[in-house]
Amino acid sequence: MFRKPLTCILALLLGTTAWAARRPGQPLKPGFNFFSKQQDVDLGQTNAKQVLQQYEVVKDPFLQDYIRRVGDRLAAAREARDSGFPFTFTLLNVPEVNAFALPGGPMFIFTGLVKDTENEAQLAGVMAHEMSHVILRHGTHEASKANLIQIPALLAGGLLGDQSMAGQLANLGLGLTANSFILKFSRDAESEADALGSHLMSQQGYNPIEMARFFEKLAQGGSRGPQFLSDHPNPGNREVAIEAEIRTLPQQEYGYETGQFARVKVAVNALPPPVKRPQAAAGQQK
Ligand SMILES: [Zn+2]
Repeated sequence: MFRKPLTCILALLLGTTAWAARRPGQPLKPGFNFFSKQQDVDLGQTNAKQVLQQYEVVKDPFLQDYIRRVGDRLAAAREARDSGFPFTFTLLNVPEVNAFALPGGPMFIFTGLVKDTENEAQLAGVMAHEMSHVILRHGTHEASKANLIQIPALLAGGLLGDQSMAGQLANLGLGLTANSFILKFSRDAESEADALGSHLMSQQGYNPIEMARFFEKLAQGGSRGPQFLSDHPNPGNREVAIEAEIRTLPQQEYGYETGQFARVKVAVNALPPPVKRPQAAAGQQK
């Protein structure tokens, strides 16, 4: 039986509020969560199947291999390894500038994002940011916060242990189905993902300032920018905050790249338009 006294929940919530005010360089840890890490993984894998039905996966093995190489490099950073989550990376043929990661590790990158980034470090920056949402378990943390009453009841009823977990959550209006797992994160979650993302990049030789530069570019309003920013609201002063975080990191040599980025750009620009058009699922929430 799973019970949490209300006072305990409130204390946890207050704890996360205090956490939001973290200063650069302070540790980053997941907030309170009703879900287990294994449930994050199960939820992500269930939803990943739906993503693959909805979107067209890029067939070019060179491009998929490239995305995997950049992703695996970030996943080898300490915090990513320590999380134990099984990260996967898939390039989808979608013109919008976006990427998202599901709880527990599956990450999807749109070709529009690859086209819009100016160098590999910027692409790695968006991926590091997404990976940080997974490591910090922001998806199920936000769901836990939004459903303080229902989720403990569900867990107590043992309903989350089987295949219907995603469906049960959808019935609660959690919207963790179809496209809706592209949760709109809070600004605090965004700041945390920027900070942890800069750690992952730095350890692996990518200059974290490139993440800030790319987000600033999006914020300055390219015509295709807003989609990413509507899922990941700009916490404000992103570049300044990331610079402050970088100053707390051990001195690093930056400038790592696979050397494939120029070829990747050519290959992505040569792809035919997507055949499969993403369809909004019935009852989808966002
Ligand atoms: Zn984000």
